[in-house]
This record gives sequence, C-alpha cells and structure tokens, in this order.
Amino acid sequence: MSNNDQHPTNKAEVRSDRIVTNSQGNPINEPFATQRIGERGPLLLQDFNLLDSLAHFNRERIPERNPHAHGSGAFGYFEVTDDITDVCGSAMFSEIGKRTRCMVRFSTVGGEKGSADTARDPRGFATKFYTEEGNLDWVYNNTPVFFIRDPSKFPHFIHTQKRNPQTNLKDANMFWDFLTTPENQVAIHQVMILFSDRGTPASYRKMNGYSGHTYKWSNKKGEWFYVQVHIKTDQGIENLNNEQAVKLAGENPDYCGQDLFKAIAAGKAPSWTVYIQTMTEEQAKKLDFSVFDLTKIWPHKQFPLRRVGKMVLNENPQNYFAQVEQAAFSPSHTVPYQEASADPVLQSRLFAYPDAHRYRLGANYQQIPVNCPYASRAFNPAIRDGPMNVDGNLGSEPNYLASSKSYNYIQSQKPIQQHQEVWTGPALPVHWATSPGDIDYVQARGLYKVLGKQPGQQRNLAHNVAVHVANACPEIQDRVFAMFSRVDKGLGENIKREALSLSPRGEEKLQAKL
Ligand code: NDP
Repeated sequence: MSNNDQHPTNKAEVRSDRIVTNSQGNPINEPFATQRIGERGPLLLQDFNLLDSLAHFNRERIPERNPHAHGSGAFGYFEVTDDITDVCGSAMFSEIGKRTRCMVRFSTVGGEKGSADTARDPRGFATKFYTEEGNLDWVYNNTPVFFIRDPSKFPHFIHTQKRNPQTNLKDANMFWDFLTTPENQVAIHQVMILFSDRGTPASYRKMNGYSGHTYKWSNKKGEWFYVQVHIKTDQGIENLNNEQAVKLAGENPDYCGQDLFKAIAAGKAPSWTVYIQTMTEEQAKKLDFSVFDLTKIWPHKQFPLRRVGKMVLNENPQNYFAQVEQAAFSPSHTVPYQEASADPVLQSRLFAYPDAHRYRLGANYQQIPVNCPYASRAFNPAIRDGPMNVDGNLGSEPNYLASSKSYNYIQSQKPIQQHQEVWTGPALPVHWATSPGDIDYVQARGLYKVLGKQPGQQRNLAHNVAVHVANACPEIQDRVFAMFSRVDKGLGENIKREALSLSPRGEEKLQAKL
C-alpha cells in the first residue's frame, strides 16, 4: 500500500463558498450581531447563533491525556528496506520497497497539556501504521526501559511525577521517596537514563524510539520470536543540558513542537531507521533476567540489531485537535503476526490505553478519521451504535453473526501460531519487585560506563540529579545518595557534594522550603 495521496485522515472539509453559518449550516448575515430588545436592551433566548457558539465554546476541551498530555504529531510513511519475512509475516513487511502510511505523536509524560516540552521526562514515541491488515500501533518511548515492572504501581508512580495533592506543586520529596523505596529501585536503570542528558532531548527529530517491552512476532511458517524494536534517528542524537532545558522551558515551552513543525514545513523531513532484535524461547530461558522485565535491555552484542526499514515524517497535520489531540494509540491495536508478550506492564497497557480513549473520545473513537483503519476497512456487525456514531453504522446489515451459513461473512484465513508458550501454575497475587536484587543494578552500571566514554556525560548526570534532589528533605536526599552510590561510589559522592552545596542542611533552610 502506498496510497498516501488519498489518505482521508489529513483532510478538512470546508464549505467551498465560505459563507459563514451556524452549526446547522444556516447562513449568518452578521456574525457579531446579537438579538436584543432595542439597541441597548437585554438579549433574546431565541438567538440561536449566539447560544450555539457560546455553548460549543464551553465544550471545546476534552480531557487531556493522563499521562502524555503534551505532544506534537506528524504524518509520513514507513518503507521496508530489508527482508524480515523469516521473523514476521505481517503484510507491511511483505516486500522491499513497500510503503505504509503512518502517523507519529511525540510527547512528554508527566506534565500537563500546556507544560514545557523540554522538561526532564521520558518522551512518548507513538506510531500508528495504516496497514491493509488494519491499524498497527507501536506505542513506544525514547528510552529502552521503564521505571516499573509491576503494573499495579503505575498510578502510584505517575502521581509522584505530577503534583502534590495539597500544594498542587511538583514535589521532589514525592518524586524521590517513590524511586528510592527499596522495592522500587528496579527503576534505577531508567532513572539513570532520565537524569543523563537523554532526559532532555533537544528535538523530537533527534531522539530514538524503543519498544522497551518484549513483543512476539511470528512468520508464516508458524515460528515465533521475542522481538524488541529500535527506531533510531537519522538526524543524530542531540540533547540539551539541564540549564539549556530549564531556560527554554521558560522562553519557549513549545520548543520541540515548533522544531518539528518548522522542519517538516521547510521540507526537511526527519527520518528514522527501524531495527529489530530477536530472541528465541531457548535463549530467553538462559538469560540472567526475565525477558518480560521492562527494566532491562537486551545487550547489543548478544542480540545484534537487524535493519528493517525507514520511517519518514514529511507531512504536518492540517488540524492539531482533529489529528493529534484525538489520535488514539494502543499496543492492543495490532496486526496478524505481531502480538504482545507476557510482560505484565504490556498486558495491562492492552487494557488501559483503549480504556483511556473511550473515556477521552468515546466508545466510537475508532471512527475519528485519524484513528480509522481506512486501509483495511473495519467490518464487525456486532460493533454498532454508541455515542457519536458517524460512519453510517453499517446501514441495514444485520447486527450479529451466527454462522457463515446464516449470514454472509468471511472468516480470515490468517494462520494462528502453532508453537505457543505454555503457562501453568496456581492463580496468585504476585508482587514481582519485592526486593531489588543486584541484578537490577547491573545494567545501570553498564550505562554509567557508556556515559564515561562520552566527554562530560558522567558529570552532567551527577549535576542533573543534584539540582533536582537539592529540593528534597535531608532524609530523602540521603536515600538518593545511597542509591546512586550502589551504581558507582564516586557518582553518589559527586551528587551528594553538589546537592549539599545547593541546599545546606539546617532547620532554617528546611523551613524556608516548606
Ligand atoms: P553497547 O555497549 O553495545 O552500546 C551502548 C549503547 O548505549 C549505545 O548503542 C546507545 O544506544 C546507548 N547510549 C549511548 N549513550 C547513551 C546515553 N547517554 N543514555 C542512554 N543510552 C545511551 O550497549 P549494550 O547493549 O551493551 O548496553 C549498554 C547500556 O547501554 C545499557 O545498560 C543501556 O543502559 C544502554 N542502552 C542499551 C540499549 C540496548 O538496547 N542494548 C539501547 C539504549 C541504551 P542507542 O544506539 O540505542 O542510542
């Protein structure tokens, strides 16, 4: 499929004669006039044009995403450059040169819709592919790992990144209290990335995307593989240091959104090269960590990157609200031969994302043009009615399936996988991260070594933590120093020295902070 030109998701219908009307298409002679008694008297309830516009204005806002509220998006295409049909049978990979239209939304995580996009935060990197087998969403981040591996912790963790319930302020104590609690120190690897300069990308164009989770892909022979996806920027990684990010947050809170829009408008279409890592079930059994542990990467040396294709963003949205604010991604929106693994955080996202869209956009969110699987056409006679049904509702088609004999439908011939994992065991409440093992520090230490090869990067990490933790109380600060000392003694000491120089201990200082 390469039907970029006829794509319905980036077109707005505007009345060709441009005669201004109310919401019902009734022409309005004087848009600024109001119906009143005499020249200065009270208004009339019969003035539908006024009421129509005021009432609609009150309803312009929909709930912002919680989290990932602040974001920017663009359209483009994915093109296959290398044959991976031995790993994945999805139609989008069927031949070299094949193009599939896509839409990407980049975002920050913790901040509100109007917050600064240079904030220290992971970045969302969500892509929707409009494939002939239906929509496929890769709902990724710019970091290859995440803070938690127990999904039940997600609301707790996100609350600590947002605002204190009493003060309504960002709160360094909440932030570090959660992360330094022993069983939450599984986050250390992601915290190291967050507080490296990769935590403040200079541009959405100049950062990578990672699946983070393990997925399961299969080929047409029924063989399946664990897969991680890497979307690497062709523009080169570029980050801000802490001071640049803070300055830009004040001067131009939409710095990254502006950068993306301007680049595309100027014809400088950013691109990314897409790679996969693959792992067999046998290899997974030999790992010293779980393949379903979202806090771990797969080492490149053991699991080399294999190139798949190129992603290009060459088209700005025509309307931000219609096409970016309403874009609804979910890892459960998937195509044949690509499925979720048993990673519990991924499993819970399969529920949480569509649930969020039903709340924000309504039960028929899939009918909104940017979300519509236009390249495959959805057909399910039982998915009918509901609020804001706008696609004709399958007309006079029956609203049920019984059997193919009683009703004219065709079953998909896509094969199901023949070799599945087998799970057995009692149903139990399991808290995975009850105590952090040293294994949770191994990759954080590996990253610290990687930073050591890049001039100034270890120093920046210590500085970035220090200026943040300087706002926390002494007890929490001590926990932070101890946690980073477990990665590297010198790192812990450097953070401590700088943090204490910024926030000398003493009752007076503490009181001032409160
Ligand atoms: P290698 O030693 O083969 O390569 C190091 C990797 O580190 C690079 O490829 C780069 O990933 C990533 N990296 C470089 N600078 C930074 C930074 N400032 N912040 C975060 N990541 C950076 O990698 P290994 O596979 O042996 O992993 C070593 C460490 O690299 C890991 O502990 C992990 O923290 C980090 N890393 C690993 C990734 C993986 O999937 N293996 C992916 C990203 C980070 P990239 O090329 O993707 O930019």
